[in-house]
Order: sequence, then structure tokens, then C-alpha cells
Amino acid sequence: MKVLVAPAQTQGARRGDFHHAVEGELVRIDPPCAADRRDPDGRCGCGRAFAGLNSARATTTARVADLPLSRADVVEALRSSLAQQGWDPAEAAQEADDLLRTVADVPVGTVYGRRLSKLVALRTTEETASG
Ligand SMILES: [Zn+2]
Repeated sequence: MKVLVAPAQTQGARRGDFHHAVEGELVRIDPPCAADRRDPDGRCGCGRAFAGLNSARATTTARVADLPLSRADVVEALRSSLAQQGWDPAEAAQEADDLLRTVADVPVGTVYGRRLSKLVALRTTEETASG
């Protein structure tokens, strides 16, 4: 099913982009900290970043990929990541469903950025293919 993963490198080439996550790992949209809560371009960066589930590291872009995972796999990946990082794992199912719903009808290869709680498509597959 379609999921959001960390890209090989930052895709947006925007000011303030960064990429520390591991290519291909599932990412989540974690709540921004106090510094970035109202400003996606805040000094922390978490308001414009996705968090890698395994690495717990951040990247400002995420890519839609079709992986051989079930919903249960995604929920479990989120649950263990939340638990590891000190968040409430009870949120995992709801969060997984929100993420999966967001990308369900989006073409594979679409690249997203984040503005606080909103996802912004930066690039679609068609544009990627033409460079
Ligand atoms: Zn932060």
C-alpha cells in the first residue's frame, strides 16, 4: 500500500531544507515543539519536517512509495516508534490511518513538504520524470 517514506536526499531545494533520515524509512508527522508551533520556518525545523520512524531523524521532504506493507504493519511500525521515542503509542492506529488516507489516492513518487500540520505537494511524478 501507499506510504510516506524518507527520500534519498532532500527534494525540494528550498531554503531551510534538510535531510537526516534514512532513505526509504517510513516517516510520520510529529507535533511541533514550542519553538516551531506557529511557524513552519521556525528555528527548530520540526514544524517543516517529517520524522523517520526508525532513525528518529528528520527530513523536510517525504515521498509517496508503494510498499508491500499492510495497514497492520504500518500501525505496528508507528506504535513501536512512538513508544521508543517517548510518545503515547495509543495514538498509532489513528495516526497511521490519517497518513494512509492522505496518500491513498496520490501518485507514487509525489514529493511532499510540511507546513506544521499540513502537507504540501512539492512535486508530482510527471514533473519528476521530466526532470
Ligand atoms: Zn522543534
